[in-house]
Amino acid sequence: MLGERKAEQFEFFAGSLRDLIPDEHMLARVARVLDLAWLRDEVASLYCSHNGRPGIEPETAVRLMLAGFLLGLVHDRRLMREAAVNVAIRWFCGFGLTERLPDHSSLTRIRQRWGEARFRRIFERTVAACVGAGIAKGEVVHIDASLVRADVSWEALATRWVDKVGQENAPLDEQERDAKQTGKYKKICTTDPDATMSTSGRSQRLEPSYKQHTSVCDVAGVIVDIAVTTGETNEGSELVPAIERIETLTRTHVAIATADAGYAYAKVYGALERRRTDAVIPPKAEPIRSKVPMRRFRYDAKHDVLKCPRGKILKAGRAVKHGRFFTSRARDCRRCDMAALCLSGGRSDKAVVLGNDYPALLRARRRRLN
Ligand code: SF4
Repeated sequence: MLGERKAEQFEFFAGSLRDLIPDEHMLARVARVLDLAWLRDEVASLYCSHNGRPGIEPETAVRLMLAGFLLGLVHDRRLMREAAVNVAIRWFCGFGLTERLPDHSSLTRIRQRWGEARFRRIFERTVAACVGAGIAKGEVVHIDASLVRADVSWEALATRWVDKVGQENAPLDEQERDAKQTGKYKKICTTDPDATMSTSGRSQRLEPSYKQHTSVCDVAGVIVDIAVTTGETNEGSELVPAIERIETLTRTHVAIATADAGYAYAKVYGALERRRTDAVIPPKAEPIRSKVPMRRFRYDAKHDVLKCPRGKILKAGRAVKHGRFFTSRARDCRRCDMAALCLSGGRSDKAVVLGNDYPALLRARRRRLN
C-alpha cells in the first residue's frame, strides 16, 4: 500500500528544521527547485490501493536516494545511519527531529518494486522538466563512461573453461594459444554474472565491474542520458544509442558530441558523420603491429583503392563483417624491395582489411592535425 506523510511531521517543537540549515547548503539549494508532486501518481499503479502495510512515501524515498547521491552516501545502510543524525537530510526528506526513520531495506524494496523502466520514466520526466526550464538543451553533449566495481567477493569468481572438450586433444602449446584467443581462462562472477571482468585506464587490475555511460548537457551540466552495462561493454558501441535517446527526449538534434579517446573508433566517427553530429573525439595513434604500418598505405577515396608505400595499387575485394579486403597483385610484390618486411610469411601478395568507416577515421585524424 502507498505510504503517506502528514504535514506536521515536517515541523519540530522549536520551529522548522529548515531554520537550522544554511541557505547555501546543497540540499537547501536543491529543495528550492525540486518538485516531485507528480511522483505519487507516477507510481500509484504499483501499489494496492486498499490493502497491505503502508510503504515508504514515494517522494520521501526519492529524496532519500537523492540526498545519498548528492552527499556521496551511495550505500543504503550508510545513508540511513547518516540520515538518523543529520538534520539537513531529515529536513530534506520530510522527517521530524525525533521521528524514527525507515529501515535501509525499504529503499531496496522500492527499487525492486518500481523497476528499471519506472526509474527511467522518472529520470526522463526530470530531464524534460530541465529542458522546459531552459537549463538543458541537448545540443552539445559530453559523453563519458566510468567503471563501477561490482559488490562481489573475489571468492565468487570462477574460471570459464570455454571449448575445453574440443581443445583437450590439441598439443600443449596450441592449447595455450587458443585459450588466450578464445578467452578460455576468462573469469566470470558466479553470484552476479552481469558484472564482468574489466580494467580501468587508471588501475590495470582486472575487477568484476559494471560500466556507467553518462551524457551531460553543456548548458548547465544536467545529465541527459544514463545507461549501465556490464563492465566489458565497449563504450564506442553505446555512444550512438545514447545520442538517439537524448534526441528523442529533448527533441533537439545533437550537433556536437565530445568524448575521450576511448570512443575513437572508425565506426563511431562514421556513424556521427552520417547523423550530422560533429565528433570532438581525439583520434588514437595508430597501433604499430607491423614493420610497414597501415599509415604508410594511402587510401584514395575517389578511386576507392589503397596505395602501398611503393605506389602499387591494392584493389577492394571480398567483404568481411565491418569492412573489405584490399589486395595487391602478386607480380607487383614479387619484385618489391620491401617484400620481406611488408608481406606476411608465406604470402605472395599483400592483403589488408579496411573498415567501412576508415575514410571517416582519416578525416578525424586530419581535423586533429589542422
Ligand atoms: S610488398 Fe607489395 S604491397 Fe608491400 S610495399 Fe611492396 S609492392 Fe607494395
